[in-house]
Amino acid sequence: MSHSTSPRAFIVGSGIAALSAAVLLIRDAGWRGRDIRILEELPVAGGALDGSGDAIGGFMSRGGRMWTEEAYVCLWDVLSSVPSLGDAKRSVKDEVRQFNAEVLTHAHARLVDRGHHILDASELGFDLHDRLDLVRLLVTPERLLGTRRIDDWFAPHFLETNFWTMWRTTFAFQNWHSAVELRRYMLRFLQEFPRIHTLGGVRRTALNQYDSVVRPMHDWLALHGVVFEHGSRVLDADFVDEGAGRRIEALHGERKGRPFSLSVGRDDKVFLTLGSMTADSRRGGHDRAAELVREPLDGAWTLWKRLARKAPGFGRPQAFCGDVDLSKWLSFTLTLRNPALIQRIREFSGNAPGTG
Ligand SMILES: Cc1cc2nc3c(=O)[nH]c(=O)nc-3n(C[C@H](O)[C@H](O)[C@H](O)COP(=O)(O)OP(=O)(O)OC[C@H]3O[C@@H](n4cnc5c(N)ncnc54)[C@H](O)[C@@H]3O)c2cc1C
Repeated sequence: MSHSTSPRAFIVGSGIAALSAAVLLIRDAGWRGRDIRILEELPVAGGALDGSGDAIGGFMSRGGRMWTEEAYVCLWDVLSSVPSLGDAKRSVKDEVRQFNAEVLTHAHARLVDRGHHILDASELGFDLHDRLDLVRLLVTPERLLGTRRIDDWFAPHFLETNFWTMWRTTFAFQNWHSAVELRRYMLRFLQEFPRIHTLGGVRRTALNQYDSVVRPMHDWLALHGVVFEHGSRVLDADFVDEGAGRRIEALHGERKGRPFSLSVGRDDKVFLTLGSMTADSRRGGHDRAAELVREPLDGAWTLWKRLARKAPGFGRPQAFCGDVDLSKWLSFTLTLRNPALIQRIREFSGNAPGTG
């Protein structure tokens, strides 16, 4: 255990939340980069914002994450200070803006039926009952919604509407997911209602999000001296009660199979990433299914579960990782060897790749 005189920041995880915290510490709080340590168990930064591979071995991106201008105010603010990789005079924010001004998203085939017909998706399909349920959801406080599921709240008719098909495929909802979670999304993405059938609000990056966002942030932070400690899995934190609150006094984890501990001083700061959508993710292949990990192995859930046992204020991770079959996520990436499929999709949908 070591002590230095100036306060240090320990950031656990290197997803967009962690990278943003580091940018803000330097930019807005005036911290020196060298006093900031990012502890990440994986060999690369970025967490869920991934993108890797090549044309020979195949590409991999666990998802295309859609951003909007209105909802991601803090993200765009952070990215306005990070230079893009291609042009140091231009920020990542400006690069994304320019790309989206040139490549407009406007889906012409948002819904396709079983007979391969393109539907008129501008017809949302609500009846009066659906509308009332929707408004009722938005005005009901979370504590009254409790653990209700989406299909507890809405009538079967709602779940058959064009609107619901579009909303759930945009934001990855299953009918058994939480009504509270849906309410949060609806309040945050209300502005998408009139354009949900075109996806016109979606903002994309020119490259995959690892190359367009994570790499520039990583490089900017490294340039400022931030220390990235890959292969460091944080598994526990010790707390002391102090005054009205509590403070972390030590972090424990393992690096290359060996345990480590870090003492945390009174003026030090700790930022923890708790849980992760991509924790324990496994890669399948053309001829093999991805393994399904049922018992969390990665640091993300292990750490949160341990903290949650220490004090009720740390939330309930079981609600998110307690039933793998109800919360698992499967995605796939195609690596095409010739343009035939892309051409067919373009002809059928009326959209160039990335615009629909
Ligand atoms: C397929 C897919 C599609 C998505 N689509 C969208 C979308 O359309 N719109 C949208 O807004 N969002 C979308 N998301 C969600 C979005 O990507 C995530 O919410 C966001 O990237 C999470 O960032 P984060 O920093 O909180 O955590 P993460 O990206 O999960 O990163 C956590 C990082 O911390 C590390 N870590 C965690 N715990 C520990 C520990 N104890 N010790 C060491 N390291 C640790 C992990 O290894 C990981 O690198 C999608 C996600 C996926 C997977």
